[in-house]
Amino acid sequence: MKKLICLLISFLIIFTACGKKVEKNALEKIVDRDLLVVGIKSDSKPFCYKSRKTGDFEGFDIDVARYVAKDIIGNERKIKFVEVDPNNRIEAITSGDVDMVIATMTITPQRQYLVDFSIPYYIAGQTALVKEDSDIYTFADLRKKTTIVVLGTTAEQNIRKIIPTARLVGYKDYKTAFNAFLQGKGDAISTDDTLISGFMIDHKGYRMLKNKISQEPYGIGIKQYDDKKLKTTLDVIITRMKKDGTLNNLKHKWHLK
Ligand code: GLU
Repeated sequence: MKKLICLLISFLIIFTACGKKVEKNALEKIVDRDLLVVGIKSDSKPFCYKSRKTGDFEGFDIDVARYVAKDIIGNERKIKFVEVDPNNRIEAITSGDVDMVIATMTITPQRQYLVDFSIPYYIAGQTALVKEDSDIYTFADLRKKTTIVVLGTTAEQNIRKIIPTARLVGYKDYKTAFNAFLQGKGDAISTDDTLISGFMIDHKGYRMLKNKISQEPYGIGIKQYDDKKLKTTLDVIITRMKKDGTLNNLKHKWHLK
C-alpha cells in the first residue's frame, strides 16, 4: 500500500511539472513574434500623425518606436502600428492588444495603478490655444469660457481641478477637437504645448497662452508584468537615447524646444 501511494505521488509530481507551461515574458514574446505592436495616434503632430504625402505614420513618437524596434528585434521596420485614442489607450495595453503605447502619454500616478511606464523620454507642459484677437491671456481668463479638451487626457483632469467653473466640451480625439475649435465651438482648446505647436504649423491666426499649468512627462506605457524585464529594457534604451544625443536630435528634427 505504502509503495502504491509513493508511486501515485511520484506520478502526480511528474504530471504537474510537465503540464505547467512556462509563461514567456513580454520581451521574449516580442522577440519570438519578430514584430513590435505599438499603439500610436494618427492626429498628434509632430509626435504621431499620418503623413498626407506618404500615408505613413511619422513623428517623434514614431521615431522612438523605430529605435525601440531596432534595439529589441534588430529591425526598425518590424512594427505594426495600431491607432489608439487617449480614451482607450490604457485598455489597449491591459488587454494585450499592443505591446506598448508610444503616444504623447503622460506618466501619472493614477495611470500607474493600471499600467507601467518607462522613464520619461520627453517633458511637455499643458497650455491652451486661442484666437489671435481673443481676450483670453491666462488660464484664469478661461473661467466662464468654453474650453475644448480631449476626453481621458490629463488636460481634461487638470482644467477640471484648477478651474472648476470652466465650461468644458470634450471630444474623443485631437482631429475632432481641433476641428471643433476651428468651427468656433469653444473659446480655447487646452492640451500639451507640443500638440498646440503642431497645430500652429498648419494654421495661422492663433495664439498659445504663455503659462503652462503642468509638466507632462511622456513615457512608454506597457502592461504590468511581475518580472519587469520589458520595463528595464525600455529604461536602458531611453537612457541610451538621452546619452547618445538621439532624443536631442529628434527634438531638432521635429522643431521642438
Ligand atoms: N499628454 C497628455 C495625456 O497623456 C495629453 C496628450 C495626449 O492625450 O496624448 O493625457
